Amino acid sequence: MANKHKVVVVGAGFAGIQLILDLKGAGAAITLIDQRNHHLFQPLLYQVATTLLATSDIAWPIRSLFHDRKDVLTLLSTVDGVDTAERTVRLRTGETIPYDTLVLATGARHAYFGHDEWERDAPGLKTLEDATTIRRRLLLAFERAELETDPEKRRALMTFSIIGAGPTGVELAGIIATLAQETLPGEFRRIDTREARVLLVEAGPRVLAAFAPKLSDYAARALTKLGVEVRTGEPVTECTEDGIRIGREFIACRTVVWAAGVQASRAAEWVGAPADRAGRVMVNPDLTVPGHPEIFALGDTAHVEIEGKTVPGIAPAAKQEGAYAAHVIRDRLNGKTSHEPFRYRHSGNLATVGPNAAVIDWGRIQLKGRIAWWLWGIAHIYFLIGARSRLTVAISWLWAYLRGQHSARLITQKETLKPE
Ligand SMILES: Cc1cc2nc3c(=O)[nH]c(=O)nc-3n(C[C@H](O)[C@H](O)[C@H](O)COP(=O)(O)OP(=O)(O)OC[C@H]3O[C@@H](n4cnc5c(N)ncnc54)[C@H](O)[C@@H]3O)c2cc1C
Repeated sequence: MANKHKVVVVGAGFAGIQLILDLKGAGAAITLIDQRNHHLFQPLLYQVATTLLATSDIAWPIRSLFHDRKDVLTLLSTVDGVDTAERTVRLRTGETIPYDTLVLATGARHAYFGHDEWERDAPGLKTLEDATTIRRRLLLAFERAELETDPEKRRALMTFSIIGAGPTGVELAGIIATLAQETLPGEFRRIDTREARVLLVEAGPRVLAAFAPKLSDYAARALTKLGVEVRTGEPVTECTEDGIRIGREFIACRTVVWAAGVQASRAAEWVGAPADRAGRVMVNPDLTVPGHPEIFALGDTAHVEIEGKTVPGIAPAAKQEGAYAAHVIRDRLNGKTSHEPFRYRHSGNLATVGPNAAVIDWGRIQLKGRIAWWLWGIAHIYFLIGARSRLTVAISWLWAYLRGQHSARLITQKETLKPE
């Protein structure tokens, strides 16, 4: 291992994992560092937050993914800096890890547009902890409402606001409405969960802005049919533990979820690279950091522009970037120095709205409704890792579809909801 080319990969997300898979047999000594012990399938995180899936359905221990790869050393640690002169990565523990090639694939986190204080009351959805926090708040709100005698307080407990109507916001609003309308009503005696108010608030003019306008219209109509109040063109100006403010109107609500913005990880700062407004490293056409051909930035932490178009921050883009960087590293190990620039193949935009309702935008081909919903389900099952996860997710979905039951309705962790 001592004389082998040292590749250090920070981040076991879609980009980092794909890169390592594609470096199999390349002869490098790979060190994979992640602050969590699992790889997470973020596209289905909202289903953990809303009780449809269990955490282990959509996350896999990183060690197990590479158990048969003797060339991969996995370290559970947080990186907090890079010394580009010494070519070392610094861990929070103080240890330094030397590299010949460094891959930064540390993803993104929530952005509160200068209002970080909103995070406590309006958690975002990015990690399993976020998902279980939202799940706990959601379930506790109904439990508290069952105990509450004051109608105003009960109303606030049964009001759920989702801020941001991209795919995550739309999917969350749809599934919370379905939970309140179909799953829970028969189980509560004092409250009628069907009276729950679900708001989806979007500052922009339409929901699902990245999709074709007619699919946005369909999604908004399908959400309204489910009972979701869709409010577009209205930015939220305040989030507190008592509710949210939209313009002059204050809406009392106890459960708020932030799905409005992302900020890249601090990778650009670590290597002193130029960054865009979201903090993403402005990479070269071969995905390396300007001035550092030995450092790659990939996935949500990179700003990749091809012919004036920015590559979107989605899982297929991260995977393609991981595959491309692995290809370049392999070539370099074989003595090849020039490479074609990275090319991105867009595989479409997909989002579900509720039972039997989804939208798929493949550019010239656009689908909506039941067919889109089935295709969305099949695509997501296909992209999960391993037969067990595919099977358990398929069974959970089938159970919810046939019986209207969500199997992961557990309140765990310490309670953080404001006491009544
Ligand atoms: C709720 C949600 C829903 C989404 N839905 C979709 C969807 O439907 N379709 C789609 O294509 N995309 C979707 N996305 C986007 C998609 O998940 C991302 O584009 C993709 O995960 C980016 O991959 P990545 O490898 O760049 O980063 P990530 O997958 O985010 O991985 C980054 C990794 O880096 C680690 N890390 C971060 N900082 C450090 C540090 N300092 N030290 C060590 N490790 C660190 C993290 O723990 C993480 O494991 C969704 C994202 C979210 C949050």
